[in-house]
Amino acid sequence: MRLNELITAVQQYAKDADIQTLVNAYIFAAQAHNGQMRKSGEAYLTHPLAVSMILADMKMDVDTIATGLLHDTMEDCMVTHADLEENFGLDVADLVDGVTKIGKLQFRSKEEAQAENFRKMVLAMSNDIRVVLVKLADRLHNMRTMQHMKSDRQKAISRETMDIFAPIANRLGLSRVKSELEDLCFRYLEPDIYEQLSNSLSDRSKDNNEYIKQFKIKLEELLSSKGIHCTIYGRTKHLVSIYRKMESQSIRFEQVHDLIAFRVIVHDLHECYASLGYIHGTYSHHPERLKDYIAQPKSNGYQSLHTVVIPSGEQVEIQIRTHDMHQFAEYGIAAHWRYKEGHLALSKSDVQKISKLRALFEAAKEIQDPAEFLETVKVDLFSNEIFVFTPKGDIKIFPQQATALDFAYAIHTEVGNQCTGAFANGKMVPLRYVLQNGDRISVQTSPNQTPKRAWLDIARTGRAISKIRHYIREEERQLGIALGKEILEKEALKRSTTLTKLIKTGLLKDVYKPLGFKEPEHLYLSISSGATTLSKVIKGLFPEESQKPKSKISSFISKMRSKPTSAVTVGGKGNVLTSFAKCCSPLPGEPITGFITRGRGISIHRSDCPQLLHSDAFLRIEVEWEQNTETAHTTALDIVCNDQMGILADLGAVCKTQNVNVIRMDGRSGEAHRANLYLEIIIKDVSALNNLMRTIRKISGVLQVRRITAKK
Ligand code: MN
Repeated sequence: MRLNELITAVQQYAKDADIQTLVNAYIFAAQAHNGQMRKSGEAYLTHPLAVSMILADMKMDVDTIATGLLHDTMEDCMVTHADLEENFGLDVADLVDGVTKIGKLQFRSKEEAQAENFRKMVLAMSNDIRVVLVKLADRLHNMRTMQHMKSDRQKAISRETMDIFAPIANRLGLSRVKSELEDLCFRYLEPDIYEQLSNSLSDRSKDNNEYIKQFKIKLEELLSSKGIHCTIYGRTKHLVSIYRKMESQSIRFEQVHDLIAFRVIVHDLHECYASLGYIHGTYSHHPERLKDYIAQPKSNGYQSLHTVVIPSGEQVEIQIRTHDMHQFAEYGIAAHWRYKEGHLALSKSDVQKISKLRALFEAAKEIQDPAEFLETVKVDLFSNEIFVFTPKGDIKIFPQQATALDFAYAIHTEVGNQCTGAFANGKMVPLRYVLQNGDRISVQTSPNQTPKRAWLDIARTGRAISKIRHYIREEERQLGIALGKEILEKEALKRSTTLTKLIKTGLLKDVYKPLGFKEPEHLYLSISSGATTLSKVIKGLFPEESQKPKSKISSFISKMRSKPTSAVTVGGKGNVLTSFAKCCSPLPGEPITGFITRGRGISIHRSDCPQLLHSDAFLRIEVEWEQNTETAHTTALDIVCNDQMGILADLGAVCKTQNVNVIRMDGRSGEAHRANLYLEIIIKDVSALNNLMRTIRKISGVLQVRRITAKK
């Protein structure tokens, strides 16, 4: 039974490994796949078993190898996450789930940038890096056993492997897996060249093998004579790397001279450099091909000294490294799995290597102690990014927490502006749906849709937020222009002309040019925002009006009224065109509410004003008194008093001491020796008014004081 081979392989590097779990996983998989066949006609179980053997070769932990056995049970056999968790624990269940999810991703390879995104997506979806290792082992075995597939399937799978999985293996430092995957892809993608090359190579292999044998002995003798005890491996290079060399240098196979490579594995760093020195002292070498990847490791963490020597016409590449470097060169990230009492354990230097790898993946966190390792392995390698598919299969990258609305704006500004909803993996979702790795998103739009202010709370990406803001600002600007234009149109109509005429005659331009505006729209906007006062514009357009003499008092009043807006803020903003409603003449200090009028900006009412209460609630807007502004407001009092001499004098004295300006006073005698006085005054705020009314009530002969609206 081949299960025994697996168990033996695991026990070789982990004596106290939990073999029972492997046996259980094997039985579970055998039952799940019972009756299923591979294309080759073999029992399906041979595949998961082979995958777990590959993982055992990488010296993986028991959970990973069990995952290798179970990796196709969810996809093919209706096994659930709960089933797996019950039998093998949460870790294994999550691992199998992860492998299954990656298996469902569909990549249509196109440009390199998309391939890179897809590689990142695979890594991001594998919260646990072991998921990727199982997936690579799975792909490797599938590639090894593709003979029975149709040619176009072989090509498609090879293309995907070449674009996605071989680069991932390379990035994780799994050079063995990477080289084998590439050779297999080469075989299916370029069958003619592959055949030709492998024939040429096998023609020379007899000579090569003899050469390798001889030179290996020479190297061993040389180094051991200097007291360096090493292990030496000789081999012919991989077909793909030979082919790449031919391509890049435009040469024929016969012209490729360094087909043979040796690996010299020594004990420590010192011996690496010492060996290099002795080899260079004995054989001539190509100085420009000497590479010190020990001092400057490759981006995937690979370390070695590379040199090319010329012993006798033939060129030979020699790689010199320590045992640790070799382990890492062969197994990459998987080289860090070590056993200690049946659990994963890592040395400090392992952790440092992992840190380097993590830097490669743009990960931010530094690992400081080995205990963090398992957590780190589980941490999403691209924790800050979410990868989702467009309906066409392109990949878009978003920050975490990004929503369907962000997706819509990432497609196109118009798609964002008009989007009404979205579908995630075919299911309808709201705009605030948070994107998940691997989602396939499509957007619904409607030409009637426009961006809403509330969208600013849904969007997470800078792009979406700025597009929404821009739209809202533009919308407000257009409203402001329309409002300002309407105000001017009304003023023109009052004077028996039209705005169009004022524009045609150039009158309007004469007014707005000196104010620094280039277009009439700028003037309209400025009027509606209150930045340019209407009176200023009217004065410019109709200068004859201001010729009329004004009484002292009315000029005083108009002065007081000229800045009616400064006392109120709308939605936290000053500078909005406002006016005080005549019906209730609100005073600072009183609760007030704004009412949006069509031609006159916002009219300010007392909150209890009956006219306001009868108005359309939709047009009411929250407004506030501005703090600490000195303003003047007109209000009026109705005073009932005895019709007696002296009261008017007393009233005048009270107003004077309280600094209240009287604009108008009317009196009329009533019944039973009573008199009604109408007093129109300018006052600061409601507390000043209350003070005044209180003092007036104390005047002898005054019976009643009432606040009323000023007469027209
Ligand atoms: Mn599989």
